[in-house]
Amino acid sequence: MTEDTITHHLTDSLLMAYSAGTLPEAFNLTVAAHITMCDECRARLGAFDSVGGALMEGCGSAALAEDSLKATLARIDVAGPRLPRATAPAPRGVLPAPLQDYVGGDLEAVRWRPVGMGVKQAILPTAGPASARLLYIPAGAAVPDHGHRGTELTLVLQGAFEDSVAHFGPGDIEVANEDLDHTPVADIGADCICLAATDAPLKFHSFLPRLAQPFLRI
Ligand code: ZN
Ligand code: ZN
Repeated sequence: MTEDTITHHLTDSLLMAYSAGTLPEAFNLTVAAHITMCDECRARLGAFDSVGGALMEGCGSAALAEDSLKATLARIDVAGPRLPRATAPAPRGVLPAPLQDYVGGDLEAVRWRPVGMGVKQAILPTAGPASARLLYIPAGAAVPDHGHRGTELTLVLQGAFEDSVAHFGPGDIEVANEDLDHTPVADIGADCICLAATDAPLKFHSFLPRLAQPFLRI
C-alpha cells in the first residue's frame, strides 16, 4: 500500500485524544490502524506526543493528598481497556498490525457473520463505551442508509466505497457524526473491507435493518 494514495486523514482532536490516551478502546484501535498505514498522521502524532510530554514536564510538582498515590494506583489496577498502539507499517497482509492482534492473524483468521444483502461483519473484542467491527461489503453493494447518534470512524482496509461526502480508498478514514446521513456503496470491481468503530447505535432509516439492529449490535 502506498501512503500517498491516502487522502482522508484523522482530525487533530482524534490525534490529540489518542496521544493523551483518552479514547475508548474501539476508537483507539481504529486510530492506531490508520496511523500504521499513514506516514502523514504518524508524523502529526509525533508532534502531539512531544507537546504532551513538554506539558507534563512543565507541570512541576504539586502538593498531593497523602492517599492520592494509593488512589491512583487503585484506579490503574481496575482492568482498564487495552490500548493498542500504532506501529511501523506491517510488512505484509491486508490488516495493519494493531488489528491483527485483535483478529489473531490476517484476513484468513477473521470469523465473518452474515448480516444480510451479502454484507458480513466480525465484531472485535473491545471494552468500554464504543464498539469496533470489521465489515465486508461485496463489490457494488451498499450499507443501508443511516444516520449517527454519536461518532463513527470508518477505515478502508481493502477496496473502496463512496458516499455523499467523498470516495474513500485503502487507508482513508471517514469521520461521521450526527450531522451526516449516508449510504456507503462499495466500488464495482473489488469487495470492500473496512474497520468501523461507533460509540452509539446507528439510526437506520428503513424497517428491515432497524429490525435486525439488536441482533447485529450495530
Ligand atoms: Zn493519515
Ligand atoms: Zn455511517
